[in-house]
Amino acid sequence: MSLLVVGSVALDSVQTPFGSTADALGGSAVFFAVAGCLLHPVQMVGVVGHDYPIDRLERMARRGIDLAGVERVRGESFRWKGKYSYDLQNRETLETRLGVFAEFQPRIPAQFRDARYVFLGNIDPELQLGVLDQIRAPELVACDTMNYWIQSRRDVLLRLLRRVQVLMVNDAEARQLSGDWNIYRAARWILGHGPRYVVVKQGEYGAVLVGANGVFYVPAFPLEQVFDPTGAGDAFAGGFMGHVARTGDLSSDNLRRAMVVGSAMGSFAVERFSVDRFDTLSAEELGERVRSFGELVRFDIQPYAVEPV
Ligand code: AMP
Repeated sequence: MSLLVVGSVALDSVQTPFGSTADALGGSAVFFAVAGCLLHPVQMVGVVGHDYPIDRLERMARRGIDLAGVERVRGESFRWKGKYSYDLQNRETLETRLGVFAEFQPRIPAQFRDARYVFLGNIDPELQLGVLDQIRAPELVACDTMNYWIQSRRDVLLRLLRRVQVLMVNDAEARQLSGDWNIYRAARWILGHGPRYVVVKQGEYGAVLVGANGVFYVPAFPLEQVFDPTGAGDAFAGGFMGHVARTGDLSSDNLRRAMVVGSAMGSFAVERFSVDRFDTLSAEELGERVRSFGELVRFDIQPYAVEPV
């Protein structure tokens, strides 16, 4: 029941009102993997330059990440620099230095080609399609994308959607892709273009799963301290797909549970800079947080009848 991720392996420099980091571990594949590996072993595919602190990545990988698909090539690693507003709702990209990521051509090692569960992190949709061509018979493919690809590679992205079962995007991306401001209509539009499910992430307001048989909402965990929202979406995806791979159950009830695990992982990601929180995150802490979501949405309303006034 292998779980594969392909995406960026980055060095992030992030400024928030609470501090900053420079050249910290980041990238979509890394955030996905550090969250997912707490639930199921993760196979990772990406590229780094000769300057990447591979020892730091290897230390995280001891928890269950197979780095055989991470190529090391001559040149500089991908670097991303971003700055968050005071309320941590908006971020500005200050700099993107692609380095070796510019020439990234994902090559899936032979031993990864039987992957059953695949997450395509935010990269050129042409490359995402190329990854799918190398996987024999995936059972569930989820993918992310971003405004840049929606605008510049729309046709390829639409071709990719035909081969994806779950699209995970934020609300702005769902609106941009569908051309509809209403996220439920936007999700319906996306379902008409291939995926069986759409996950629309709404930051501190939670996330919505939309499928043919209904809508499910999971709140974001009510944290009093948020340090760095970077990577929350990818950690969410790691929790979601990790749960699916661990259980091997694609029923809509189980995807609802995957949403809760995803939201829990997203909440851990933002508690510290970079992937630091995952260094010490235990199975007990994860279990406790997942269970506490039940309390967040539980209410007792029976018998409930409103008499006419
Ligand atoms: P998220 O906060 O979930 O959107 O993910 C942030 C991560 O995406 C950071 O760790 C960045 O290194 C990475 N990232 C930023 N821009 C790009 C890009 N253009 N392509 C791939 N990864 C990116």
